Amino acid sequence: MKILVTGGAGFIGSAVVRRAMAQGHEVVNLDALTYAACLDNVADVAALHGYIFEKADIRDAATLARIFADHAPDAVLHLAAESHVDRSIDGPGAFIDTNVTGTYHLLEAARAYWLRKDRCETFRFHHVSTDEVFGSLGAEGLFTEETAYAPNSPYSASKAASDHLVRAWGETYGLPVLLSNCSNNYGPYHFPEKLIPVVILNALASKPIPIYGAGENVRDWLYVEDHAEALLTVLQKGTVGRSYNIGGNAEARNIDLVRMICSLLDEMRPAEHPYEKLITYVEDRPGHDARYAIDASRIRDELGWQPSVTLAEGLRRTVRWYLDNTEWWQALQARDGVGQRLGRV
Ligand code: NAD
Repeated sequence: MKILVTGGAGFIGSAVVRRAMAQGHEVVNLDALTYAACLDNVADVAALHGYIFEKADIRDAATLARIFADHAPDAVLHLAAESHVDRSIDGPGAFIDTNVTGTYHLLEAARAYWLRKDRCETFRFHHVSTDEVFGSLGAEGLFTEETAYAPNSPYSASKAASDHLVRAWGETYGLPVLLSNCSNNYGPYHFPEKLIPVVILNALASKPIPIYGAGENVRDWLYVEDHAEALLTVLQKGTVGRSYNIGGNAEARNIDLVRMICSLLDEMRPAEHPYEKLITYVEDRPGHDARYAIDASRIRDELGWQPSVTLAEGLRRTVRWYLDNTEWWQALQARDGVGQRLGRV
């Protein structure tokens, strides 16, 4: 297939680009190169036959039309988004612009192209979303594909809105859409403002490791390369119009996750004191969801996908990667807002 990947210079998008190329697909990587992007993430595939980069903004309808016409993709994997919850609290407008309006423009460009291709039956528009659209769980229960939407942050509300647009374009216009909602990802090339890289990099710099609130918030962690594989599985085998929850089956409280990372660092880069001593509790994020956990039985039973990397193994690989790739993260740490406490009301 020739896949138009949006957001392919970001964290998950670049993993998708690398995996798609490894599977023998052609990739058109469309990315506006915002503060969160890094073309080094796809340096390994950039020179390969079948890879093309388009610097473009999904809010730019004319450019989207040109890109569909020039490249004639067989499918779209839509990941481009503003993705950081704390930034969405400080500046929700960019999240509405890109995640809602941008997704609308992409849907319209895809629909016009699909109509020109005589409603090509094999065309797919796969929208990549998050479990955060479902809101917060109590101590028990899991998010299924039937869980009602109840987003609590500007980020998750904007993603929920985009999910609804995608569904409506499928129902109303017949566009062959697919949707997936995934839990928290981690792994190589994770932008250094997100929790796991912050923990690793602050520890290495002997800076306080900030934990929001009491550190009791629970997330279901998935290694990013498993997510990339899941997305390509849904794209190729998923039933049109259906949504698929994707999760790691690896719930952890933030404080336990941070302790796991500290002990890996104690082993791989021993310091004078255990890294845990740097843990510092800070004011909680407003509207901080207590718990996310995914029931991923649909994608497992219908499409045969399940996570291949345990949390312990994935964290080990991730810590190793950050230790071995200092130039990558040092360059990104200089970007606007990185390393600052964002998202306080
Ligand atoms: P990211 O912030 O690392 O990457 C987003 C990419 O989108 C960047 O390369 C950025 O330049 C690009 N982009 C932003 N605005 C754009 C625009 N207007 N036009 C074109 N490109 C634009 O995000 P990520 O963590 O890789 O997440 C990718 C997708 O997966 C998002 O849609 C996110 O909601 C979803 N998701 C993320 C997670 C997670 O844990 N990170 C979990 C589930 C779902």
